[in-house]
Amino acid sequence: MHRIAMIGTGYVGLVGGAGLADLGNQVVCVDQVGEKIARLREGGIPFYEPGLQEVVVRNVREGRLSFTTDLAEAVREHDVVFIAVGTPEGEGGAVDVSQVDAAAHAIGRHMTGYRLVVQKSTVPVGTARRIRAIIEQAQTTRHEFDVASNPEFLREGSAVEDFMRPDRVVVGADTERAFELLRGIYAPLYLIHTPIVETTPETAELVKYASNAFLATKISFINEIANLCERTGADVRIVAYAMGLDNRIGSKFLHAGAGFGGSCFPKDTKALVRIAEAAGEDARVVRAAVEVNESQKERMVDKVVAAVGGDVRGKTVGLLGLAFKPNTDDMRYAASIVLADGLVARGATVRAFDPVAMENARAVLPDVTYVGDRHEAAVGAHALVIVTEWNEFRRLDFERLGRAMAERVLVDLRNVYRPEDVEPYGFVYVGVGRGRPPVGGR
Ligand code: NAD
Repeated sequence: MHRIAMIGTGYVGLVGGAGLADLGNQVVCVDQVGEKIARLREGGIPFYEPGLQEVVVRNVREGRLSFTTDLAEAVREHDVVFIAVGTPEGEGGAVDVSQVDAAAHAIGRHMTGYRLVVQKSTVPVGTARRIRAIIEQAQTTRHEFDVASNPEFLREGSAVEDFMRPDRVVVGADTERAFELLRGIYAPLYLIHTPIVETTPETAELVKYASNAFLATKISFINEIANLCERTGADVRIVAYAMGLDNRIGSKFLHAGAGFGGSCFPKDTKALVRIAEAAGEDARVVRAAVEVNESQKERMVDKVVAAVGGDVRGKTVGLLGLAFKPNTDDMRYAASIVLADGLVARGATVRAFDPVAMENARAVLPDVTYVGDRHEAAVGAHALVIVTEWNEFRRLDFERLGRAMAERVLVDLRNVYRPEDVEPYGFVYVGVGRGRPPVGGR
């Protein structure tokens, strides 16, 4: 059993803190936002994440998990301190590491003996060493400490499962003491044969960016192929399926769509480009993945405008889904933002429904009309657009939706349906990369 303080109770900190408690450790989760801590103490979760509440409630009940705003005390009372604060996009795509620096400073100021500091946030290469320097400077009394890099790979929407059953754990450290402590913390994962990669802090830090940039590149790649499919009459769903059957390629992350969003891929790809620049390298592939993604999001606006006849002024568009992906309420860099803003700017009225993200959406998309369910989103619409592939949009009642709409047009930005699923209801179907062979072809 280790005594762990987790600084930051966002998606990573809260899932990680609750997960480490579930693995048998004594964990305190710290956040500077008092409301979050108050809500957590009442058994509430500050964001939507399936299965998280059960783990939190169970571990609080069993006395292994608690919450505080008192960072100084958390550092004084715990031997292992994880940093899981935000590292948002800063100026020009660089990473804003100010929250990490502040946390490191506080750790240095308040430590009372040996501490293992584990950097979990996604941070530029070299940060673990910088944290070391910040802690040394902040210390008023000399205490030994180690800094390890332990990037997190969980996905929002399946975060609990991802944390408890990761594909791998990556640990970067300089001392045997640090490795040994982290081996102990993650010991239960050895039982399920999780590969644990032990390396240097620099390598661990780069593994995270390289992994995210590779996945993002796969998405941009298939989106580029999708656009080519539209021009040539090919169907990207079949192209991707057949490509994915090759084990060297794999079928995951080959779904053409509205472009990647979320709190990680957009900022991490840009960050990697900047990290490369600073190191004197030009990350051309990643730069292209970013560019393709940005134009893909814009292209979705053109696609909807074209689907309603080329001019959206005075027309109504219904959006199904706003979150950047299903099973989350996270709106950071969601494709829906570019789409809704673009449609409103071109004179459309936008009605939207999302099962959980509407509260967060209101803050970033004030000009959208929010409605209570998927059927209301269709009322008076000249096109209905599937933006996020929530399960509840996978079996739509097209007859009922069609009756409520001004025109029967479905723009399926996630390729959930096939044209033949909706055309019997009089709908025009527009997908992404679903070219049709010329008349006479098969
Ligand atoms: P988030 O913005 O949701 O949460 C960060 C939390 O840290 C906030 O609640 C904030 O109040 C708190 N915080 C900041 N400074 C603090 C301080 N000094 N003391 C106490 N609390 C403080 O962030 P997130 O989505 O959980 O991401 C955290 C990190 O993990 C980022 O680097 C991100 O790139 C990385 N990451 C995120 C995901 C994901 O899916 N969200 C996955 C893997 C890695």
